[in-house]
This record gives sequence, structure tokens and C-alpha cells, in this order.
Amino acid sequence: MQALVYHGPGEKKWESVGDPGIESADDAIVKIDTTTICGTDLHILKGDVPTVDEGRTLGHEAVGTVVEVGSGVRSVEAGDKVLISCISACGRCAYCKRGMYSQCLNGGGWILGHLINGTQAEYVRIPFADNGLYKVPEGLTDEQVLFLADILPTGFEIGVMNGGVKPGDTIAVVGAGPVGLAAIMTAKLHGPGRVIAIDMDGGRLDRAMKLGADTKINNASENAVEKVMELTDGLGADTVMEAVGIPETFELCTELVRPGGHVANIGVHGAPATLHLEALWIKSITITTGLVDTHSTPTLLKLVAEGRLDSTAFATHRYGLGEIMDAYDVFSDAASNDAMKVVLSN
Ligand SMILES: [Zn+2]
Ligand SMILES: [Zn+2]
Repeated sequence: MQALVYHGPGEKKWESVGDPGIESADDAIVKIDTTTICGTDLHILKGDVPTVDEGRTLGHEAVGTVVEVGSGVRSVEAGDKVLISCISACGRCAYCKRGMYSQCLNGGGWILGHLINGTQAEYVRIPFADNGLYKVPEGLTDEQVLFLADILPTGFEIGVMNGGVKPGDTIAVVGAGPVGLAAIMTAKLHGPGRVIAIDMDGGRLDRAMKLGADTKINNASENAVEKVMELTDGLGADTVMEAVGIPETFELCTELVRPGGHVANIGVHGAPATLHLEALWIKSITITTGLVDTHSTPTLLKLVAEGRLDSTAFATHRYGLGEIMDAYDVFSDAASNDAMKVVLSN
């Protein structure tokens, strides 16, 4: 089969590799119907994720059709249309039993396209198939559910749920990339009073307004702290979400939050950020971090099936799977191409 293979920092190739096969009784083999590229894949290609070995097939988000299951798999069978979750989970360890699948102690967590071969290929082996695959409800298209593999549960669990969003709250989301937008879209499920999108890219801010933000602040030209204080009678935002992953934006979030509020960090950080405890100790704020557990995936699937959540607006570019090298070029220069998520169909 063909797969997108990582060959060390800056090097990738769409090439012929061996077909995956069942290795354990709880495995499934899934034919990829639709997949996408994640910001995390770009981090890997920059060499920021040294745990990825050369020769690894990338990708951790897809919709596919089951072609074969191991003898221990009970919940899916050949022919089923499935959403492949970015998180694998044994379902039995101490963390899985707490619903913290991202921390699975038995070889689960974020392993697809990281520690084992991923979804940017014609076929993929999915371990712990009973837990990592979700049957796609009848009548839904691949594109309607594709972004439930990662960005929507990430925005919802790590931004909205960790951030304690309540009806009437003022929410500020710093960073209007795919995950920031997913946080904006799913924040609406909790009935906030006002959602403020903050970014330095006008195109992304316009998309944020289309996906549910009420106010945009371009912090390339505007003072985000002053604007948010103005909008909140000098209090600050109830919940601030960090969806960039650099020290400056994290520190900005701690200036935007009101006393008693929440800072929910979603961004993937590669460098230390300063925690200004000299200013924050007195403010009773809560700071949360996390990697998505995907415990909300069944809920989000239901909301999509009921027409309450439409994530198709994330897709800006569409390609055949064999055109994945072109898709990477467009996605890695998202700003000039006005790209959000690319959809690759097999
Ligand atoms: Zn992803
Ligand atoms: Zn586990």
C-alpha cells in the first residue's frame, strides 16, 4: 500500500510500504476513506517530537471502513464505517478507568502516527479497536465526523470543559487556528454570553466570527488586554483559552482572566512560559492543562447526528489521498493559502 512516511526532520515521502496485519486479538485493520493533516504532524516534521522514529507513517485523524478484526474485538466488524480516534486506550488500566485515556498505561494514549504507524495511508492497524473506533451514525458523511477524531474533542474537553464554561460567561480564545476554532464552536454548547476571538491573522479572525465568535481582536494592531477589560467592565474574561502554544500567548491569557476565572491551556508548548505568581497569587484563578482524552467523542457524535454541531466548515481544501504531498505544502503555509483543515479522500 501507499503511505506518507516520515524520514527525519524536514523529510517525508508518499511511498510504497507493507500492508498492516492483525498483530493482537484486539486489533482492527481499517481502510482509510478520509484523513487529514494536523498541526502536530508539522511539529513532527520540524523535529519537535523526537519520540517519532524515522520510517513512521504519520496521521492520527481519519474515517474509514473496517476490513478485518482480531478474535477479541466485539464492538465493530468488517464493513463498519468508523471514526478513528486520535487516542487509543486499553480500557483496563488505572487511568483508562478514570476516563483519562490519554494517559493509558498499557501502550495507549496518542500513539497513532507517533509511536505506531498512522492514518495517512491506504490502511491502518488500530490497536484496542473496541475503544478507539466509533461507528459512524447512519446517514452522516465522512467530512461531518472527520474533525471529531481530534480537534473537536480537544477544543471541547481541554478548552471548554476544563475551562468551566457556564451560561452567560465571557470567553476569550487566544489563537484562532483549527483547535481554537473548535473551542469557539463547542463553547457555544454551554451558552456563553460572549465569545471573543484573539489572533494576529485577519483571515483566521473572520473564520472565527463565522464559526461562532461574537467579537474579534487582532492583537497585531490592537491591545487585547485593554479591549477585553473594556468589554467586561474592567473585570476580565471568565474563561481564557490558550490555543497557540508559545510563552507570549500563555502569559497574555493570565492577563486577560478575571479574578476567580479559568485559564485553560490547550496549546502544545515547546518552551517554558513565565507564571507571574507575584501578580496571580491573589487572584484565585484556576489554570488547567491537558491532552485530549476523547471521552466526549460519543456526545459530540450525537450532536453532529442531531444537527446541533456542524464541523464541515473547518474543511477549506480537498485532495485525493495520493495528492497528500501537495496538501502538506498548502497546509504548512496555511496563512498564505487561507487554509484551515485539508480533507484527503481515498
Ligand atoms: Zn491532530
Ligand atoms: Zn489504559
